[in-house]
Amino acid sequence: MVAARHRPRLAVWKFASCDGCQLSLLDCEDELLAMAAAVEIAYFPEATRGTIVGRYDISLVEGSITTPHDAQRIRDVRQRSRVLVTIGACATSGGIQALRNFADVQEYASVVYARPEFINTLASSTPIADHVPVDFELRGCPINKRQALEVISAYLATRQPVTPSHSVCIE
Ligand code: SF4
Repeated sequence: MVAARHRPRLAVWKFASCDGCQLSLLDCEDELLAMAAAVEIAYFPEATRGTIVGRYDISLVEGSITTPHDAQRIRDVRQRSRVLVTIGACATSGGIQALRNFADVQEYASVVYARPEFINTLASSTPIADHVPVDFELRGCPINKRQALEVISAYLATRQPVTPSHSVCIE
C-alpha cells in the first residue's frame, strides 16, 4: 500500500486589521484552488470554518498586536508554525492603528466607548516582529496577490521568495 503524501498545512491568522489582506488572498481563489492539490488550507476562518489543531507548515499573519490577549496568541501561533509570514502594513509595521502610539490610548477609549473600563487594550499597536521571530514580511496595504502567491509557492518549494522590497497600493 502506498502511504498518503503529507500535504503542507497552511494557516491564515487575523489580528488587529481591516481584513483587506485576507480579501486579497481570497481574490486568488482560482490559484489557491489549483494549489489545493499541493497544500492543505487547514485554518482560514475568513474563508472556511476551521478549528486550530496541531502544527502548520506555513502561517500567514494579518494584523498588528493591540491587546494583551493578542500578544499571548501570537506566541501560540509562532509555536505552531514552521514558517511565519506577516502580510500587510498592519502586521509588518503596526498599521493605521499605530497612530495611537503617539496619543493617550485611554483618552481615545473614553471618547469612543460608552464604558471604556471594559476595554482591555495595549498602549501601542506593534508589528508582529516585535513579539516573535518572523521568517518573511510581505508589505503593502493591501498586499499584492501575485506577491502573496509567490511567497506561498516559494516556501512550498523551500526556497526564498522573490518579491520587490515594497508593494504600495498596486494590484
Ligand atoms: Fe487592511 Fe491595509 Fe491592514 Fe491589510 S495592511 S489589513 S489592507 S489596513
